[in-house]
Amino acid sequence: RYRSDIRNIAIIAHVDHGKTTLVDAVLKQTGTFRENQKVDERIMDSNPQERERGITIFAKNASFFYKDTKVNIVDTPGHADFGGEVERILKMVNGAVLLVDALEGPMPQTKFVLRKALELHLKILVVINKIDRPNCNPMKVLDEVLDLFIHLGAHEDQLDFPYVFASAKSGFAINELGDEPKDITPLLDMILAHMPPPEADVDAPFQMLVNTIDYSEYLGKIAIGRIFKGSIKKGDPFTCLSAKGKLLNGRVAKLFIFEKLGKVEISEASAGDIIALTGLEDISIGDTLTHPEHQEVLPSIEITEPTISMFFSVNNSPFAGKEGKFVTSRNIRDRLYKELLSNVALRVEDTESADTFKVSGRGELHLSVLIETLRREGYELGVSRPEVIIRRDEEGRACEPIESVTIDVPDTFVGIVIEKMGKRKAEMKNMTQMEGGLVRLDFEIPTRGLLGFNTEFITDTKGEGILTHIFKCYEPFRGEINSRQNGVLVSAENGDSVAYAISSLDDRGVFFVEPGTAVYEGMIVGESNREFDMNVNVCKTKKLTNMRASGSDEALRLTPPRKLTLEQALEFIEDDELVEVTPKSIRLRKKTLD
Ligand code: GDP
Repeated sequence: RYRSDIRNIAIIAHVDHGKTTLVDAVLKQTGTFRENQKVDERIMDSNPQERERGITIFAKNASFFYKDTKVNIVDTPGHADFGGEVERILKMVNGAVLLVDALEGPMPQTKFVLRKALELHLKILVVINKIDRPNCNPMKVLDEVLDLFIHLGAHEDQLDFPYVFASAKSGFAINELGDEPKDITPLLDMILAHMPPPEADVDAPFQMLVNTIDYSEYLGKIAIGRIFKGSIKKGDPFTCLSAKGKLLNGRVAKLFIFEKLGKVEISEASAGDIIALTGLEDISIGDTLTHPEHQEVLPSIEITEPTISMFFSVNNSPFAGKEGKFVTSRNIRDRLYKELLSNVALRVEDTESADTFKVSGRGELHLSVLIETLRREGYELGVSRPEVIIRRDEEGRACEPIESVTIDVPDTFVGIVIEKMGKRKAEMKNMTQMEGGLVRLDFEIPTRGLLGFNTEFITDTKGEGILTHIFKCYEPFRGEINSRQNGVLVSAENGDSVAYAISSLDDRGVFFVEPGTAVYEGMIVGESNREFDMNVNVCKTKKLTNMRASGSDEALRLTPPRKLTLEQALEFIEDDELVEVTPKSIRLRKKTLD
């Protein structure tokens, strides 16, 4: 049985291909706004950081009515750091609208989300967007999309996908390129015709998978997902199960569905509906909610593992407390653990120091968005530069994360890009000449090679290059950890195969640390939580000075150094590591990986 009055769909696209604009156009044209509501404001990107950074971070829900059918749209995050979110979102829907820019063609995120959608056997509707752009080639891009379907191993029946051409910005869609542009209706008709209604056995016992958790001060934890079977009413008892054997009983306190752009409280919902409910604090993503007498667990949801860690710590500087409201370790710890409730790809660990927490996430952007959020809320903290997370495989080898990188640049910058990527241990996989003098370069690179690279890349390509990356896999470390040419100081963590090169210390006692090729600035806190700052001055290389001057990421402010005397610093260093000590420097033997 099906709920023919409902469609649950996701919109998937590479960042900037026009998702938000398209949803805005659809909502506007289906009368989802009140008369006096300003519609030139972008609707889906409601988080201030999302607007400033021009990216979608959190998936949000919206809905509209068209020809007596309610269409629930779930938005998916458009940045690779939030890739883990995409799969969870896709499990709520039956169909996906794949949006592709008519000039740029399929990009890494297009590939990634489409692969997930195909694996989940979703019906795909392709929208070739931005057909108003000069020099675009919609038919060629459509062919490329078909090639991508084939490349990703789509089934025979998935290859025959429906498509439309659109200009979200001008608010129209057309079925064939010669058609007269009118409005977005051709797309809406395609959605009703091709996106399957949810299967819905309304009479069966209640069952739902928790795809998302939201949190509000007032309501507490909010579980969001699609009801697979049965129905539920406010006040009903339910059981919460996990694949790991969790079994808890709760009662529905509040029940919501998504209407237009917000949640609306209702008293009853049934199979096919995407709902939000409250009533149990100990709910997690991936849990199944069932009727208390029919406890059947649904397959859980895999959450992408973090690849990058940073240390957040209490600001110990004499200026602490001048800017922020929340400055104690207790404040920071509580806030970080609260963040875990809804930020699923995040990990937080206590360290041996009560003032320092290890925070791990999916990438530099993921963590810098969090840091900025905390700052805006009035938390004052020091953060270290990010480090990649090292894992051991079954054979005990140290493995590091690897990313797939796609770079589009005008051909004059190809040389410098290849050179810089090579220095960062990237392996070039492909090089393609594109329209308009652009060249597309595909690389694989250890994640450490990308840390801090963005600013350099923008400068090198005069702002004309576009770099996107996506986590690929963990692989055994290649070669040794790099060291600097002159006056190198290298130290290794006890019991860990990660080596750090202390390359430079400036007069404030701030030093630079380098795991692999990436340059870091901050405090060294290893797995063993040895923590040391030094107020000695060693080599300053030109490159490091440049890095500092550029202040590459405002969000990554320094931990104020705790000064140590030379004698104190020496206590952290093993005898066999030492080469030379002068009043101004400590020289250590170069250490490599085991
Ligand atoms: P998202 O990241 O996928 O949500 O993309 P946005 O909707 O934010 O769009 C990214 C940029 O592309 C914005 O500057 C839009 O104005 C622009 N854009 C979106 N749709 C179109 C279109 O149909 N034609 C043109 N020329 N630009 C578009």
